[in-house]
Amino acid sequence: MPSGSDYQVASVTVERSFASAVQRAGLSAAVAAMLARAFADEIDFRRDLKRGNAVKFIFENPQDGETETGDGDLLMPLAVRIEIGPRFHDVFLFRDDDGNASYYPKHGLEPEPAMSRYPVAFRRISSHFAPRRLNPVTRRWLPHDGVDFAAPAGTPVYATADGSVAFVGSQTGYGNVVKLRHRPPYSTTFAHLSRFADGLRAGGSVKQGDVIGYVGSTGWSTAPHLHYEVRVNGVPQDPLSVDLPREEPIRTAELERFAQETGRLAALF
Ligand SMILES: [Zn+2]
Repeated sequence: MPSGSDYQVASVTVERSFASAVQRAGLSAAVAAMLARAFADEIDFRRDLKRGNAVKFIFENPQDGETETGDGDLLMPLAVRIEIGPRFHDVFLFRDDDGNASYYPKHGLEPEPAMSRYPVAFRRISSHFAPRRLNPVTRRWLPHDGVDFAAPAGTPVYATADGSVAFVGSQTGYGNVVKLRHRPPYSTTFAHLSRFADGLRAGGSVKQGDVIGYVGSTGWSTAPHLHYEVRVNGVPQDPLSVDLPREEPIRTAELERFAQETGRLAALF
């Protein structure tokens, strides 16, 4: 049973920024960045965080014979609280069974989507997914197998999930097009590109968030936009509503352990 002396609570006051406050507590810039990411869903640091707000840390005291308190040289607090007026936000250190460490809000231990919804910073949706629509170029009724994101020519286009490049090149209608294969049953298509990312080639691999090309108006297109398709088992689905694949769910036993630890630690602040 842990006692109060197993832990140490430290507190710093925000002067310039969250990162500098965290580093004054003795943490590295890398840990400060991890914490900033964990808080990002709840706190807009530029808008919400003010000079004088408190940041509190719970550290584990080294046990007898132990000299290290974190991952190698990385000092990692078990929990961090930001107090903004009467409100507070907590994140907690969680190590999975493989020893990977990350910070999560108390209820934030949900797996991240392994596919993002939007492949481009778009201005508007210029055409929705539709089983049948009048194609503005061919003047024929055809299904619209994807969604069109209007964006200026040259806007970067990102892979929405990890995968491999199935096709890079030009096709009638699509113009310059990239097709990616992801973990089954998903595949994606990006059409009307002005050009491809340097070094992109069929058979290569991509990571979620990699730039694969740039918005253009090649093929059957009347203005710069990205035509984006998501297929599940080869069948086009509406990219705006398709169920996104998730990372491996965290095992229930780990979740229970995390919930117990967060309750115990939050009581120490
Ligand atoms: Zn389209």
